[in-house]
This record gives sequence, C-alpha cells and structure tokens, in this order.
Amino acid sequence: MVLAELGQKITQALRKLNQATVIDEKVLNEILTEIASALLGADVNIKYVAKLRDAVKTIVTLQMNNAAVANIRKLIQSTVVQELTNMLQSENKPYEFKKGKPNVVMFVGLQGSGKTTTCTKFAYHYMRKGWRVGLVCADTFRAGAFEQLKMNAAKIKCPFFGHKKETDPVKIAQEGVNFFKEQKFEIIIVDTSGRHKQETALFEEMQQVQAAVNPDTALFVMDSSIGQACYDQALAFNKAIKVGSVIITKLDGHARGGGALSAVSATQSPIIFIGTGEHFDDLESFNASSFIKRLLGLGDIGGLVQTVKEAIPEDKQKKMVENIQKGEFSLRDMRDQFSSVLNMGPLNQVVSMIPGLSSNLIPKGREKESTARIKRFLCMMDSMTDEELDCTKPLVELRILRVARGSGTRPEEVAFLLEEHKKFAKMVAQFGKMNLNSQTDLKNL
Ligand code: GDP
Repeated sequence: MVLAELGQKITQALRKLNQATVIDEKVLNEILTEIASALLGADVNIKYVAKLRDAVKTIVTLQMNNAAVANIRKLIQSTVVQELTNMLQSENKPYEFKKGKPNVVMFVGLQGSGKTTTCTKFAYHYMRKGWRVGLVCADTFRAGAFEQLKMNAAKIKCPFFGHKKETDPVKIAQEGVNFFKEQKFEIIIVDTSGRHKQETALFEEMQQVQAAVNPDTALFVMDSSIGQACYDQALAFNKAIKVGSVIITKLDGHARGGGALSAVSATQSPIIFIGTGEHFDDLESFNASSFIKRLLGLGDIGGLVQTVKEAIPEDKQKKMVENIQKGEFSLRDMRDQFSSVLNMGPLNQVVSMIPGLSSNLIPKGREKESTARIKRFLCMMDSMTDEELDCTKPLVELRILRVARGSGTRPEEVAFLLEEHKKFAKMVAQFGKMNLNSQTDLKNL
C-alpha cells in the first residue's frame, strides 16, 4: 500500500482510543498531535493539518461531556477518517468516458514526470476493460519518446500512431486523432511533449495541440516527489490549459506523497489515478474515500463491489454481488471470481480492498506467480461437475483424484484449492454480517 507508514502511524494513534478508559481533552489532544506529526512527516502542508485538527476538535468537543466513552471513541475515529477524506477530495468531477464515440485525451506534464509510461498504463487499464484504445505520439521534443511509446504500445498490444521524422507536434497529433477517429476507436490518447521546467515554449505547444485536436479532456501527469510544491505546478498548468484531471506518479517511492496528494486536491483538480511503480499495471484508480479506508486498513467494500461489477460480465454480476452480500460463496462463485480477478487489475489492489486482509498477502513482484496459481485453480475448477461447483456434493478423495487427473494437476493442489475456498467462504460469510452500506467499519482498527 502506498504511504503504508503514514497509514500505520495514524492507525496506531487511533488505537490508543481503545485502551483509554476516559476520553477527555488531554487524550484527544495527544491523539491529534500524533496524527498531525504523521501527516507533517508525509509532507502535508501545515495549513491543512491544522484545519483537520480544528475540525475534529470542534466536532468531538461538542459531544465530549454528553456521550458514552464508546460513542466518543467511534466519533473521533469516524471524524478523523472523514476529515482525511475531505483533505484529498476535490469538488470538480473528472470527465467520464462515453461508449460509442471517440474520447480524445491529451496528456500533459513536465519531462520525466512519467507521462509516457502513464499513457501506456492508462491505455492498458481501459483495454483490459474492453475499450478500443489508440496511442498517438505527439512528443517531438524528447529524443527517444517515439521509440519508447511505440515499444510500450507493442508490449500491451495497443495500436500506435506516430512519425519518427515529423517535427511538428500539432500535425502529428491531428493526423493521429483523425486516423483513430476514422477507425472508430473509443479512447484516443495523445502523448504531448514535456520540458525540464515550466516555460513559455511548453505552454504554447500544449495550447496549439489542444486547439488542433480539441480533446474531450486534458490529463496532467505530475511526479509526487516534489511533495507540496505540486500545488503551484498544478495551478500553473491549469492556468495555461484547462486541466480536466490529474495523475500523480511515483507514489511507490516517496514519503512526500501525502504532500503531493493533498496539495493537488487543494487546487480542486480531481486526481483520478496514482502511479505506483514502473510496470504497466502499476496504476490505481484514485478515490479519496477508498484510498483513506485502505490506508487505514479498513478495507473498502464499496470499492470491491464496484471492481467486481466492472470486471464480471453483467449476466453473472447480480448473482455474485447478491451472494457476497448474503455471505454465500460456492466453488462456482470462486471460479467466476478468479477468472474475473485476472481482469480486475493488480491483485494487490484487489486484496487491499478486503477488510482485515493485509496487502502483503501478495507481495510486490510476486503477482506473476499468483496469477499463474489462479490459472491452475481455474483449470481444476473447469474439471469439476456442476454439483461440485455449487457445493451441493462435497469433494471426497476419489473425486479429488478425478479432478486432479482431469486438470493435469496433483491431488495435493486440488486439496489446497479446497482449503483456500473454505477460507474465502468464511471471509465472505463475515462480509455478509457487516453492514455493507456503512461508510466505515472501525472494528478492524
Ligand atoms: P516522461 O518524460 O514524462 O514521458 O517520463 P517517462 O514516462 O519516460 O518516465 C520517467 C521515469 O519514471 C521512467 O524511468 C519510468 O519508468 C519512471 N516512472 C514512471 N511512472 C512511475 C511510477 O509510478 N513509479 C515509479 N517508481 N517510476 C515511474
């Protein structure tokens, strides 16, 4: 999880509430001081930290003398979660892609911010969801930009448009967009040039490309390592060209990430994704509430249900969501879910949405192994009968042997799959008992 250390520090501070028998102003101050110091450590601007502190104090002090300790504890926890969420939320809504028409997205940002890598990640994200995506290289400034995007596009099997020798970015952008529009592509991504620093030449070029291709939205890519300095950069880009939304990159490696996220949100530009690594699937959808819940290890049932909805074909969706909500989970559900998991996105992200499960369950760099295991599980489940999948007939030893033979696996592996299914079913049963509509469940803190 990005900013895991910050999450742990805030969680530790909130945990102290569970040990306190009396919660008075002194205890509240101590906890807020600890949270404030954790936020400042992550480079969050002191102004926003003070605002959060004051807001929590005002809300909680009003109730302090009238409510029972357990209720005060809950109130403090939920107010902190809410105020942290507010800190990362912006009022403006990002552009929503529409099916059945070309959606043109122009990527802008400084050189080295991760723009070209992010264009590819972005394309990959939507391709996995079934959109027809095309990539246009209009970066004529940086040597090697053409090759880099072309190679990236080939790796993710995305159609690419570019001219190695053409020096006019406006011409290429226009030709590329027209080409993909004629071919009825749905998402057309235009990668534009960056510069080492904000300068007039960069802004002028961005404006010319924008005027030529008339994008539906402009996406600003920013490197999180500059922390709260992101505020000024976001404002400057927004002034030069109307920025529709922002992607913050390199959040995997920077303790200053809290500063970057809160600073951008303060400009009211919505952050829609965060970059969390160099691989093409290291891109996470950003939603302030989900992010804070996952940061504090609270899980994100809303996000999980949404992800399941996006990844599972509509005819199977309703039943699966109903089953999860009822706390039921058959082997058939597991098979449908596992085959969808492969479309859902990085396993780490999916796992971190499940309350109580650590995102360390699938360590970074081991996603490939986990994906291979899921594929073997799917082979085994494909060798099961309907009764076995619906769990109406248990898998006894002879049946385990048959499934193993049928799927070309070993009986121990089938037994392992059944154990895993038991664990999942137990977890889903626990979900069923939770109030899925509640904003936060702090039992896990
Ligand atoms: P551009 O000049 O803005 O197009 O930047 P590039 O896309 O070439 O990226 C610059 C460097 O940042 C490359 O080495 C990328 O692999 C790296 N990079 C991009 N996004 C991320 C990210 O989210 N995390 C990490 N760790 N590296 C990233």
